[in-house]
Amino acid sequence: MKYEVLAHTVHFLHHINKAKGFDFIMNIYPNAYLKRVTNITPEFLNNNNIKALILDVDNTLIDYYKNLSMEIVNWAKNIQNQGTVLFILSNTNKKAKVETVANKLGIPYEMFAHKPFKKGFIKVQKEIEINAENIGVVGDQIFTDVIGGNRCNMFTILVDPVGKKDYWYTAWKRPIENIIKKRIKYRS
Ligand SMILES: [Mg+2]
Repeated sequence: MKYEVLAHTVHFLHHINKAKGFDFIMNIYPNAYLKRVTNITPEFLNNNNIKALILDVDNTLIDYYKNLSMEIVNWAKNIQNQGTVLFILSNTNKKAKVETVANKLGIPYEMFAHKPFKKGFIKVQKEIEINAENIGVVGDQIFTDVIGGNRCNMFTILVDPVGKKDYWYTAWKRPIENIIKKRIKYRS
């Protein structure tokens, strides 16, 4: 029963999404769906004309227990060496947490972003001075990262959460996201 209600909700969102002229309200589909952030290769960035990445933190770069893998540290280093600009944009109010990740990766950050509102994305865009279409937005959540990035006409990249555990304010949205994810395919 619960699943049915969710499925109908997603169906409804899907049709709003497809209805001409309603895109500006809510586009729930990412431009790409990858398993993890480290699957974003220099080739992928080149092919999609992406010069900068706006990165989410919770369950995109670190798990619930704040673990940051060496794989992601090395990936960030490599991507930056290739000339891609990285910037962290997080909804969290936990400064120490974001700062630790940002320092380890050597990239600037903004917090209290209120994604999916546009304000945070636009602030970062102004700071890095790169056109919206050349900015990739990377995150594990459709209702914050993907919808927010789409609203700003940026290239949205959905990734699977790095860990299974979520904060309560994220966990309730996962079943809806999982139904949406069934409609989209991994691009790599
Ligand atoms: Mg997240």
